[in-house]
Amino acid sequence: MSALYNMELQRVKEEIASRGSRRVLLQLPDGLRPHAYRLAAEIRRDTGAQVILSGDSCYGACDVASRQAEEVGADLLVHYGHSRMVEDGEVPVLYVAAEVEVDAGRIVGGCLPHLGGWRRLGLASTVQHVHSLPAVASELVCRGFEAQVGEGDEAAPHPGQVLGCHYGSARRVAGGVDAFLFIGGGRFHPLGLALSTGKPVVAADPYDGSVAVLRPEELMGLARRRYAGVVALRGAERVGIIVSSKPGQMALAAADELERRFRERGAEAAIIYLDEARAEHLNNFSEPQAFVAAACPRIALDGVAGVDRPVLTVGEAHVALGDLPWEEAWGAGILG
Ligand code: SF4
Repeated sequence: MSALYNMELQRVKEEIASRGSRRVLLQLPDGLRPHAYRLAAEIRRDTGAQVILSGDSCYGACDVASRQAEEVGADLLVHYGHSRMVEDGEVPVLYVAAEVEVDAGRIVGGCLPHLGGWRRLGLASTVQHVHSLPAVASELVCRGFEAQVGEGDEAAPHPGQVLGCHYGSARRVAGGVDAFLFIGGGRFHPLGLALSTGKPVVAADPYDGSVAVLRPEELMGLARRRYAGVVALRGAERVGIIVSSKPGQMALAAADELERRFRERGAEAAIIYLDEARAEHLNNFSEPQAFVAAACPRIALDGVAGVDRPVLTVGEAHVALGDLPWEEAWGAGILG
Protein backbone atom coordinates (compact mmCIF):
# COMPACT_ATOMS: atom_id res chain seq x y z
CA MET A 1 0.00 0.00 0.00
CA SER A 2 1.07 3.59 -0.48
CA ALA A 3 3.90 4.65 1.81
CA LEU A 4 2.71 8.25 1.62
CA TYR A 5 -1.00 8.04 2.43
CA ASN A 6 -2.51 6.43 5.48
CA MET A 7 -5.29 4.42 3.83
CA GLU A 8 -6.59 3.06 7.20
CA LEU A 9 -7.42 -0.23 5.56
CA GLN A 10 -7.79 -2.04 8.87
CA ARG A 11 -10.45 0.43 10.03
CA VAL A 12 -12.23 0.18 6.67
CA LYS A 13 -12.32 -3.62 6.84
CA GLU A 14 -13.52 -3.60 10.46
CA GLU A 15 -16.33 -1.17 9.56
CA ILE A 16 -17.38 -3.33 6.61
CA ALA A 17 -17.35 -6.44 8.77
CA SER A 18 -19.19 -4.86 11.72
CA ARG A 19 -21.88 -3.43 9.43
CA GLY A 20 -22.18 -6.71 7.54
CA SER A 21 -21.82 -4.83 4.23
CA ARG A 22 -22.02 -7.11 1.18
CA ARG A 23 -21.54 -4.57 -1.61
CA VAL A 24 -19.28 -1.55 -1.17
CA LEU A 25 -18.84 1.39 -3.53
CA LEU A 26 -15.26 2.65 -3.25
CA GLN A 27 -14.75 6.31 -4.20
CA LEU A 28 -11.23 7.68 -4.58
CA PRO A 29 -9.95 11.05 -5.79
CA ASP A 30 -7.77 10.85 -8.91
CA GLY A 31 -4.48 10.85 -6.97
CA LEU A 32 -5.46 7.70 -5.06
CA ARG A 33 -6.88 5.71 -7.98
CA PRO A 34 -3.60 3.96 -8.71
CA HIS A 35 -4.26 2.08 -5.43
CA ALA A 36 -7.85 1.13 -6.24
CA TYR A 37 -7.28 -2.49 -7.30
CA ARG A 38 -5.05 -3.30 -4.36
CA LEU A 39 -7.53 -1.76 -1.91
CA ALA A 40 -10.46 -3.56 -3.50
CA ALA A 41 -8.65 -6.92 -3.56
CA GLU A 42 -7.73 -6.72 0.11
CA ILE A 43 -11.24 -5.68 1.15
CA ARG A 44 -12.74 -8.52 -0.90
CA ARG A 45 -10.31 -11.08 0.49
CA ASP A 46 -10.77 -10.13 4.16
CA THR A 47 -14.46 -9.24 4.29
CA GLY A 48 -16.03 -11.16 1.42
CA ALA A 49 -17.79 -7.97 0.30
CA GLN A 50 -18.03 -7.09 -3.37
CA VAL A 51 -16.23 -3.82 -4.19
CA ILE A 52 -17.38 -1.60 -7.03
CA LEU A 53 -15.11 1.29 -8.04
CA SER A 54 -16.68 4.69 -8.66
CA GLY A 55 -15.22 5.98 -11.92
CA ASP A 56 -16.68 9.48 -12.01
CA SER A 57 -14.96 12.62 -10.82
CA CYS A 58 -14.22 13.11 -7.14
CA TYR A 59 -13.01 16.65 -6.63
CA GLY A 60 -13.88 17.40 -3.06
CA ALA A 61 -15.93 16.82 0.06
CA CYS A 62 -18.92 18.07 -1.95
CA ASP A 63 -18.54 15.30 -4.48
CA VAL A 64 -19.83 12.24 -2.64
CA ALA A 65 -21.15 9.43 -4.86
CA SER A 66 -24.33 8.86 -2.83
CA ARG A 67 -26.55 8.62 -5.89
CA GLN A 68 -24.22 6.07 -7.53
CA ALA A 69 -24.15 4.06 -4.31
CA GLU A 70 -27.94 3.84 -4.39
CA GLU A 71 -27.99 3.02 -8.11
CA VAL A 72 -25.65 0.05 -7.73
CA GLY A 73 -27.36 -1.17 -4.56
CA ALA A 74 -24.33 -0.67 -2.32
CA ASP A 75 -24.85 -0.94 1.43
CA LEU A 76 -21.76 1.18 2.21
CA LEU A 77 -19.94 3.97 0.40
CA VAL A 78 -16.26 4.31 1.32
CA HIS A 79 -15.07 7.80 0.38
CA TYR A 80 -11.36 8.59 0.52
CA GLY A 81 -9.57 11.92 0.65
CA HIS A 82 -12.09 14.20 2.35
CA SER A 83 -14.08 14.67 5.55
CA ARG A 84 -17.85 14.84 5.90
CA MET A 85 -19.35 18.00 4.45
CA VAL A 86 -22.80 16.81 3.37
CA GLU A 87 -25.34 14.58 5.09
CA ASP A 88 -25.37 10.93 4.07
CA GLY A 89 -27.95 9.85 1.53
CA GLU A 90 -29.71 6.50 1.81
CA VAL A 91 -26.38 4.67 1.80
CA PRO A 92 -24.12 5.36 4.82
CA VAL A 93 -20.73 6.89 4.02
CA LEU A 94 -17.44 5.97 5.64
CA TYR A 95 -14.88 8.77 5.26
CA VAL A 96 -11.15 8.10 5.21
CA ALA A 97 -9.00 11.22 5.15
CA ALA A 98 -5.91 9.53 3.63
CA GLU A 99 -3.62 11.48 5.95
CA VAL A 100 -0.08 12.25 4.94
CA GLU A 101 2.62 12.71 7.57
CA VAL A 102 4.70 15.86 7.40
CA ASP A 103 7.95 16.67 9.14
CA ALA A 104 6.91 19.69 11.22
CA GLY A 105 10.50 20.74 11.98
CA ARG A 106 11.44 20.65 8.32
CA ILE A 107 8.33 22.55 7.27
CA VAL A 108 8.93 25.33 9.81
CA GLY A 109 12.66 25.43 9.02
CA GLY A 110 11.87 25.85 5.31
CA CYS A 111 9.40 28.65 6.03
CA LEU A 112 11.60 30.71 8.38
CA PRO A 113 13.33 32.74 5.62
CA HIS A 114 9.89 33.70 4.27
CA LEU A 115 8.20 34.77 7.49
CA GLY A 116 9.59 38.31 7.44
CA GLY A 117 8.53 40.35 10.45
CA TRP A 118 5.35 38.33 11.04
CA ARG A 119 5.33 36.94 14.56
CA ARG A 120 1.67 35.95 15.04
CA LEU A 121 0.79 33.16 12.64
CA GLY A 122 -2.48 31.40 11.90
CA LEU A 123 -2.21 27.79 10.74
CA ALA A 124 -4.37 26.16 8.10
CA SER A 125 -4.32 22.98 6.07
CA THR A 126 -6.39 20.44 4.21
CA VAL A 127 -7.73 17.29 5.83
CA GLN A 128 -4.60 15.34 4.77
CA HIS A 129 -2.33 17.35 7.08
CA VAL A 130 -4.48 19.00 9.79
CA HIS A 131 -3.38 16.35 12.28
CA SER A 132 0.15 17.81 11.96
CA LEU A 133 -0.83 21.37 12.87
CA PRO A 134 -0.24 20.96 16.66
CA ALA A 135 3.32 19.79 15.94
CA VAL A 136 3.87 22.69 13.54
CA ALA A 137 2.48 25.09 16.18
CA SER A 138 4.93 23.70 18.79
CA GLU A 139 7.85 24.15 16.39
CA LEU A 140 6.82 27.74 15.78
CA VAL A 141 6.42 28.51 19.49
CA CYS A 142 9.89 27.04 20.15
CA ARG A 143 11.25 29.57 17.67
CA GLY A 144 9.50 32.53 19.33
CA PHE A 145 6.37 32.76 17.17
CA GLU A 146 2.74 32.79 18.28
CA ALA A 147 0.64 30.14 16.53
CA GLN A 148 -3.15 30.05 16.34
CA VAL A 149 -5.36 27.32 14.96
CA GLY A 150 -9.03 28.16 14.45
CA GLU A 151 -11.82 25.81 15.52
CA GLY A 152 -13.46 23.60 12.93
CA ASP A 153 -17.14 23.63 12.03
CA GLU A 154 -19.79 21.59 10.27
CA ALA A 155 -18.28 21.94 6.77
CA ALA A 156 -14.67 21.43 7.86
CA PRO A 157 -14.71 19.74 11.27
CA HIS A 158 -10.99 19.64 12.15
CA PRO A 159 -9.22 22.58 13.83
CA GLY A 160 -7.37 24.54 11.16
CA GLN A 161 -9.04 22.66 8.30
CA VAL A 162 -9.96 24.62 5.19
CA LEU A 163 -11.73 23.68 1.96
CA GLY A 164 -11.35 25.44 -1.36
CA CYS A 165 -14.79 26.97 -0.76
CA HIS A 166 -14.69 27.34 3.01
CA TYR A 167 -12.15 29.07 5.24
CA GLY A 168 -14.17 29.32 8.47
CA SER A 169 -11.41 28.11 10.80
CA ALA A 170 -8.94 30.65 9.39
CA ARG A 171 -11.41 33.51 9.46
CA ARG A 172 -12.06 32.79 13.12
CA VAL A 173 -8.47 33.69 14.05
CA ALA A 174 -7.64 36.13 11.23
CA GLY A 175 -8.15 39.18 13.45
CA GLY A 176 -5.36 38.12 15.78
CA VAL A 177 -2.65 37.07 13.34
CA ASP A 178 -0.19 38.84 11.01
CA ALA A 179 -0.11 36.08 8.39
CA PHE A 180 -1.11 32.47 7.75
CA LEU A 181 1.05 29.43 7.29
CA PHE A 182 -0.73 26.98 4.99
CA ILE A 183 0.48 23.42 4.68
CA GLY A 184 -0.58 21.59 1.56
CA GLY A 185 -0.10 21.26 -2.18
CA GLY A 186 -1.43 23.42 -5.00
CA ARG A 187 -2.19 27.10 -5.30
CA PHE A 188 -5.95 27.28 -4.97
CA HIS A 189 -6.19 26.94 -1.17
CA PRO A 190 -3.48 29.56 -0.44
CA LEU A 191 -5.22 31.91 -2.87
CA GLY A 192 -8.59 31.34 -1.23
CA LEU A 193 -7.03 31.80 2.19
CA ALA A 194 -5.50 35.15 1.20
CA LEU A 195 -8.76 36.31 -0.42
CA SER A 196 -10.86 35.11 2.45
CA THR A 197 -8.78 36.58 5.30
CA GLY A 198 -7.03 39.52 3.65
CA LYS A 199 -3.76 38.29 5.23
CA PRO A 200 -0.48 37.25 3.64
CA VAL A 201 -0.12 33.50 3.23
CA VAL A 202 3.08 31.48 3.39
CA ALA A 203 2.29 28.22 1.61
CA ALA A 204 4.51 25.24 2.41
CA ASP A 205 4.10 22.32 0.04
CA PRO A 206 5.07 19.13 1.89
CA TYR A 207 5.16 17.12 -1.35
CA ASP A 208 7.91 19.02 -3.15
CA GLY A 209 9.29 21.09 -0.23
CA SER A 210 8.59 24.41 -1.97
CA VAL A 211 7.50 27.54 -0.10
CA ALA A 212 5.55 30.37 -1.74
CA VAL A 213 4.40 33.68 -0.30
CA LEU A 214 1.13 35.25 -1.36
CA ARG A 215 0.48 38.85 -0.33
CA PRO A 216 -3.01 40.34 -0.76
CA GLU A 217 -1.52 43.38 -2.53
CA GLU A 218 0.01 41.03 -5.11
CA LEU A 219 -3.46 39.90 -6.15
CA MET A 220 -4.23 43.12 -8.02
CA GLY A 221 -3.66 41.45 -11.42
CA LEU A 222 -6.27 38.87 -10.47
CA ALA A 223 -8.60 41.64 -9.25
CA ARG A 224 -8.34 43.42 -12.62
CA ARG A 225 -9.10 40.20 -14.53
CA ARG A 226 -12.03 39.36 -12.29
CA TYR A 227 -13.46 42.87 -12.56
CA ALA A 228 -13.24 42.71 -16.37
CA GLY A 229 -15.45 39.60 -16.09
CA VAL A 230 -17.91 41.50 -13.89
CA VAL A 231 -18.16 44.23 -16.54
CA ALA A 232 -18.75 41.60 -19.25
CA LEU A 233 -21.49 39.97 -17.16
CA ARG A 234 -23.12 43.34 -16.52
CA GLY A 235 -23.40 43.92 -20.26
CA ALA A 236 -24.47 40.36 -21.16
CA GLU A 237 -27.84 39.95 -22.88
CA ARG A 238 -27.86 36.22 -22.15
CA VAL A 239 -26.47 34.62 -19.01
CA GLY A 240 -25.92 30.94 -18.19
CA ILE A 241 -26.14 30.06 -14.49
CA ILE A 242 -24.30 26.83 -13.78
CA VAL A 243 -25.64 24.53 -11.07
CA SER A 244 -23.89 21.26 -10.30
CA SER A 245 -25.74 18.14 -9.18
CA LYS A 246 -22.85 17.23 -6.84
CA PRO A 247 -24.45 16.98 -3.37
CA GLY A 248 -22.33 19.68 -1.70
CA GLN A 249 -22.45 22.10 -4.60
CA MET A 250 -26.15 22.08 -5.27
CA ALA A 251 -27.07 25.78 -5.04
CA LEU A 252 -30.43 25.93 -6.78
CA ALA A 253 -31.85 28.56 -4.44
CA ALA A 254 -28.98 30.97 -5.15
CA ALA A 255 -29.28 30.22 -8.88
CA ASP A 256 -33.07 30.83 -8.82
CA GLU A 257 -32.48 34.21 -7.24
CA LEU A 258 -29.83 35.13 -9.82
CA GLU A 259 -32.04 34.00 -12.70
CA ARG A 260 -34.86 36.19 -11.43
CA ARG A 261 -32.60 39.20 -10.90
CA PHE A 262 -30.97 38.99 -14.32
CA ARG A 263 -34.37 38.63 -15.96
CA GLU A 264 -35.63 41.73 -14.12
CA ARG A 265 -32.73 43.59 -15.68
CA GLY A 266 -33.81 42.46 -19.13
CA ALA A 267 -31.20 39.73 -19.64
CA GLU A 268 -32.21 36.27 -20.86
CA ALA A 269 -30.98 34.06 -18.05
CA ALA A 270 -31.24 30.28 -17.73
CA ILE A 271 -29.99 27.73 -15.23
CA ILE A 272 -27.76 25.06 -16.76
CA TYR A 273 -27.88 21.95 -14.57
CA LEU A 274 -24.99 19.53 -14.91
CA ASP A 275 -22.76 17.17 -13.00
CA GLU A 276 -19.45 18.59 -14.08
CA ALA A 277 -18.67 21.87 -15.85
CA ARG A 278 -16.77 20.82 -18.97
CA ALA A 279 -15.97 22.85 -22.06
CA GLU A 280 -17.42 20.26 -24.45
CA HIS A 281 -20.80 20.63 -22.74
CA LEU A 282 -20.81 24.35 -21.94
CA ASN A 283 -19.50 25.53 -25.33
CA ASN A 284 -22.50 24.02 -27.09
CA PHE A 285 -24.58 26.61 -25.22
CA SER A 286 -23.24 29.25 -27.60
CA GLU A 287 -25.81 31.97 -26.82
CA PRO A 288 -24.87 33.27 -23.35
CA GLN A 289 -22.08 35.85 -23.33
CA ALA A 290 -21.14 34.99 -19.74
CA PHE A 291 -21.66 32.27 -17.14
CA VAL A 292 -22.12 32.39 -13.39
CA ALA A 293 -21.02 29.32 -11.42
CA ALA A 294 -23.49 28.73 -8.58
CA ALA A 295 -21.27 25.77 -7.75
CA CYS A 296 -17.63 25.22 -6.78
CA PRO A 297 -15.78 28.59 -6.79
CA ARG A 298 -12.90 26.87 -8.58
CA ILE A 299 -15.02 26.63 -11.73
CA ALA A 300 -14.98 30.41 -11.91
CA LEU A 301 -11.60 31.25 -10.38
CA ASP A 302 -9.51 28.53 -12.02
CA GLY A 303 -11.67 28.69 -15.13
CA VAL A 304 -12.89 25.79 -17.24
CA ALA A 305 -10.26 24.85 -19.81
CA GLY A 306 -11.58 25.53 -23.29
CA VAL A 307 -14.47 27.81 -22.27
CA ASP A 308 -13.85 31.14 -23.96
CA ARG A 309 -16.43 33.22 -22.11
CA PRO A 310 -16.13 34.68 -18.62
CA VAL A 311 -17.25 32.50 -15.71
CA LEU A 312 -18.06 34.49 -12.58
CA THR A 313 -18.75 33.52 -8.99
CA VAL A 314 -22.07 34.22 -7.29
CA GLY A 315 -20.44 37.04 -5.31
CA GLU A 316 -19.18 38.63 -8.52
CA ALA A 317 -22.64 38.26 -10.08
CA HIS A 318 -24.05 40.30 -7.21
CA VAL A 319 -21.52 43.02 -7.99
CA ALA A 320 -22.64 42.95 -11.64
CA LEU A 321 -26.24 43.25 -10.46
CA GLY A 322 -25.35 46.32 -8.39
CA ASP A 323 -26.04 44.68 -5.02
CA LEU A 324 -22.63 45.58 -3.59
CA PRO A 325 -19.62 47.58 -4.67
CA TRP A 326 -16.60 45.73 -6.06
CA GLU A 327 -14.36 47.15 -3.32
CA GLU A 328 -16.56 45.48 -0.71
CA ALA A 329 -16.88 42.20 -2.56
CA TRP A 330 -13.21 41.79 -3.39
CA GLY A 331 -11.78 39.17 -1.09
CA ALA A 332 -14.08 36.83 0.80
CA GLY A 333 -17.09 38.18 -1.13
CA ILE A 334 -16.01 36.82 -4.49
CA LEU A 335 -15.54 33.29 -3.17
CA GLY A 336 -19.20 33.02 -2.25
S1 SF4 B 1 -17.20 22.94 -3.84
FE1 SF4 B 1 -15.15 22.95 -4.77
S2 SF4 B 1 -13.82 23.80 -3.21
FE2 SF4 B 1 -15.72 23.16 -2.19
S3 SF4 B 1 -15.36 21.08 -1.47
FE3 SF4 B 1 -16.24 20.92 -3.51
S4 SF4 B 1 -14.51 20.78 -4.93
FE4 SF4 B 1 -13.74 21.57 -2.95
